[in-house]
Amino acid sequence: MFRTNVQNQTWDVAIIGGGMAGMGVALRLQAAGQRTVVLEAHGHAGGCAGYFRHKGFSFDVGATTLVDFEPGGVGAELLDVAGITDFAGEQLPGYGAWLPDRKVTLHRENALWHQERLRAFGDSPAHRAFWTLLDRLAGVFWKASRKGVRLPVRTGRDVLADLRAIGLDGLPLARYATWTLGDALRRHGLREQDALVGLLGMLVEDTVHSTVDDAPLINAALGVTIRGAGLTRHRGGMHGFWRVLVARYRELGGVFQAGCRVHSVSPGFVLDTHRGPVRARQVVSTLPASLTAQVIPALAPRLRRYVTRDEPHLGGAAVVFLGVPESEVDGQHFTHHQLMHDYRAPLGEGNNMFISVSSAGDHDSAPPGHRAVMISTHTELGGWDGTDYEQRKKELTETLIAQAQRVYPQLGERAVVCQTATPRTYEHFTSRPRGAVAGVRQTLRNTNQRAIPHHLGIDGLWMAGDTTWPGLGTVACVLGSRIVAEGILR
Ligand SMILES: Cc1cc2nc3c(=O)[nH]c(=O)nc-3n(C[C@H](O)[C@H](O)[C@H](O)COP(=O)(O)OP(=O)(O)OC[C@H]3O[C@@H](n4cnc5c(N)ncnc54)[C@H](O)[C@@H]3O)c2cc1C
Repeated sequence: MFRTNVQNQTWDVAIIGGGMAGMGVALRLQAAGQRTVVLEAHGHAGGCAGYFRHKGFSFDVGATTLVDFEPGGVGAELLDVAGITDFAGEQLPGYGAWLPDRKVTLHRENALWHQERLRAFGDSPAHRAFWTLLDRLAGVFWKASRKGVRLPVRTGRDVLADLRAIGLDGLPLARYATWTLGDALRRHGLREQDALVGLLGMLVEDTVHSTVDDAPLINAALGVTIRGAGLTRHRGGMHGFWRVLVARYRELGGVFQAGCRVHSVSPGFVLDTHRGPVRARQVVSTLPASLTAQVIPALAPRLRRYVTRDEPHLGGAAVVFLGVPESEVDGQHFTHHQLMHDYRAPLGEGNNMFISVSSAGDHDSAPPGHRAVMISTHTELGGWDGTDYEQRKKELTETLIAQAQRVYPQLGERAVVCQTATPRTYEHFTSRPRGAVAGVRQTLRNTNQRAIPHHLGIDGLWMAGDTTWPGLGTVACVLGSRIVAEGILR
């Protein structure tokens, strides 16, 4: 079967990796008439936005929310281009942020969020001016993202595309390209406000994987406002989402080859895979940059300086998956919550955790009378390979459940499923070196004009995914897939 379908032809484009970036590129190219094949090492699509199923539950292993998949959004554009009509996304109206000393509602609706942030953090001229700046940046750069802005700028064509996307009225905001979020807080005299800085810290850690003082201001403004861009959960979680995307890709004539690890790509674009050689005219790697350098030796010298630079800025995640009786998640309006317990302690390891609960009535995610719950936190990569692995995993599991009980007091008491993923798990299931997930911690030194580009100057070789511009998250990977597909089609 593999020999007949995959090996007996030279593909227009072979895509390595069937996660968000890979499937985004594949759907676009296949819809544009290219003959494409996706080579995915794991047993099914999804990668860090994938899923696993157990005892009638379907758990999202990484991303639980899709960003900007509402009409007009970056994600929705992919659905349109691919002709996907059966996307069953439920828009989240917002979520709860539980700070050490207060609770804040992160409304999706801008007017409600504006009232809430003034109520929760202060209504002085400085607060208003700070939020106005963030809103202006977010307005201009979300619009630019939807129009297909591309970075790093390398050609005259990129300059023109970016000018069109940002627009003349947005150009003066380019001066903030050298600011961090911390700079903006300091400029407004707000850097010492624990609650405000705590909330922003949680939001930027989740979206740009960084801290208030390191996060580039423009990236942070986009991250802090992702709710406004729309957070969506698909019916059946990521399992439901990938079922729709892979089915459409196959309907378009694309070949999704699961269980097909690519070992190396040799000159002439022969891909040496687990199942035999595959030939292609062009290749897109959606593996993390360090892995791409191993698999595609031709790219290694050009990637070396980026990989060396970014290595210290990688991080991991730990997630507890609970299958629980519905009564354990009663009593909350929202299905998603973000928690912080200590303003003074570093974020991660439970101090900033995200709880996602499958929707009531979503029986693709959980059996009737039950719900699937995912509790995630950032974790350092070090220390997960020692002999105390099981103990550390157990302790983190207990910590996350105990802290989540602030929102759902009975959570986990009668769990039908209780499992935990650590960097070791991600390394095993997504092949990410050391289990590093979600791109690099973004700073002024590694983002935007300094990010890893999608094309490194070798004809026919492309890169996408969350270690390339614009970085982590479903929306970033979809935007990257658009840039790569446009480049190939050109
Ligand atoms: C815990 C967690 C929570 C998150 N929450 C959110 C969220 O709520 N919203 C959001 O937008 N984002 C979220 N993210 C980030 C988001 O999931 C990722 O940024 C995104 O899914 C990365 O997609 P990718 O295509 O770049 O890489 P990947 O998803 O890693 O895809 C690469 C694929 O390549 C495959 N592969 C690896 N090696 C080979 C090989 N040699 N040959 C063939 N195939 C190979 C892997 O199996 C994988 O499927 C979260 C991430 C994590 C870890």
